[in-house]
Amino acid sequence: MAVPARRTSKAKKAKRRTHYKLEIPGLNACPNCGELKKSHHVCPACGFYDGKEVISKEA
Ligand SMILES: [Zn+2]
Repeated sequence: MAVPARRTSKAKKAKRRTHYKLEIPGLNACPNCGELKKSHHVCPACGFYDGKEVISKEA
């Protein structure tokens, strides 16, 4: 089994962990209802995408 030649320094470890984020980004306010929604996805609150109603609420 391979063993690391040297121990990872505190700085190297900290720099790697700067990419660890608490929350997943990519959420934006919906221009129709203001709810947070994923960009490039139909809004789950009002069913709008690109200014048009894509999913009707009566279902
Ligand atoms: Zn919406």
